[in-house]
Amino acid sequence: MVPISTGNTAKQLQLMQDFGTTVLACTPSYALHLAEAGKDRGIDFHKLPIRIGILGAEPWTEEMRQEIEKAYGIKAYDIYGLSEIIGPGVGCECSQRQGLHINEEHYIAEIIDPETGAALDYGQTGELVLTSIAKEAMPLLRYRTKDITTLYRERCGCGSLNVRMDRVTGRSDDMLIIKGVNVFPSQIESVIMSMPKLLPHYNIVLSKKGKLDELLVQVETELSCNDGAIAADNLKRNIMDITGIAAEIELLPPKTLPRSQGKISRVTDLRYKTV
Ligand SMILES: [Zn+2]
Repeated sequence: MVPISTGNTAKQLQLMQDFGTTVLACTPSYALHLAEAGKDRGIDFHKLPIRIGILGAEPWTEEMRQEIEKAYGIKAYDIYGLSEIIGPGVGCECSQRQGLHINEEHYIAEIIDPETGAALDYGQTGELVLTSIAKEAMPLLRYRTKDITTLYRERCGCGSLNVRMDRVTGRSDDMLIIKGVNVFPSQIESVIMSMPKLLPHYNIVLSKKGKLDELLVQVETELSCNDGAIAADNLKRNIMDITGIAAEIELLPPKTLPRSQGKISRVTDLRYKTV
């Protein structure tokens, strides 16, 4: 196992070659970024020992899976977990890749209606609820993951009877997953609100630059150019402190952004829009 954490793409590629890495574990978007960066450096992944990708921590599609498999010449598998329970390892796809087997020796999985809390049947879509049965020190009982999925009980083509879950299709709350990091819009809001020179009108725009998530925060302010630039730098640093993500900041004159007509949407997510 070669733990190298996130970022430092050149080093990741170097280690992959030096150690003859066979399995790549990261977010799907980073796998694509790494493939691109490797290609730019003249690396032919098809000639390296790498054969498997275990990818997760953000929503991804079948199309993205195919793109990753083509780029590396590997088989890519979806993995599911959450830091509150164990991190990665709650469930993973098997060779059949027909849903992720949940490790039922360790977790009881249920699906509930996120509005009413009522338990739903296998095959019905709702919020995933997990109970840990083997974990010591911090067990969780019927923990609401907020992840929306479906469970299937039928025997899998691989022979396993362990319950399978679909790809996670969304969240029942407003949590965003940016570069594999969990971020609530309220975290960014609290940073903006703590800076009195910024107005409490903001918008969060998520997009893709190449294969990577980009976070843009638009905020209104009455500050002039120079003071504005300082405030933007401070905001960027404060958001980095709270979320660990480098955001782009755009300062706008007062009354530029749309105002609330009841329920306002302060998040514009352009990442999974097909053009
Ligand atoms: Zn299976």
